[in-house]
Amino acid sequence: WAELGGEKEGFYISQHLRNGKYNVILAIEIENPAKKKTLTGGDVKGKKEATLFQIYHPNTGLQFKHETLAELEKKYKKVLSTEAEPHWTQLYDASVNTCSHSYWKGQCRNVSLGQECEVGLRRRTYSVLSGSVLAVWARVENSLAARIGAQSRLQVIRLKTKEGVKIVGTLIPKNCVEQLVKDLASDSEKVDEVIFDDQ
Ligand SMILES: [Zn+2]
Repeated sequence: WAELGGEKEGFYISQHLRNGKYNVILAIEIENPAKKKTLTGGDVKGKKEATLFQIYHPNTGLQFKHETLAELEKKYKKVLSTEAEPHWTQLYDASVNTCSHSYWKGQCRNVSLGQECEVGLRRRTYSVLSGSVLAVWARVENSLAARIGAQSRLQVIRLKTKEGVKIVGTLIPKNCVEQLVKDLASDSEKVDEVIFDDQ
């Protein structure tokens, strides 16, 4: 991280322990040309409100929401990368299969009910229906409507696998996958399963 320029950039850990662990993030300052023009030297508070950071988490990566320096310093304290590393590695390693609830609270309601929980995992499974689906679309809709209601909107996504295969399809909610596969397979001649790895 020698490339980091700003003195406020770098690793931060949380002020308090949660379930025996510190939260750790990496903050990268966002260049903001407007900031320099509007603020004069003495206005420290205004400066902290205007300085924005991109936030990376060890498990879920780059966050959509930016944080101001003021927010950062309220929740975290700046540490050297050597001090951040064990906390970062702990969460990174755990987030292969431990959800955020289990990690931060020691338990997860979904898991205790025997369900999978993917909250905060760094690797998640998405089911996408693609190909020539128009001919069977009414059946797809029926199958999904039974689970999620006819009013729910389906999301169309584009993805590219590590092998370079481009797929456009409909994101199928997790709780519908099994039934949908059953419904569509009921009169098919053969069923193949191909699992693509993440990219
Ligand atoms: Zn959970």
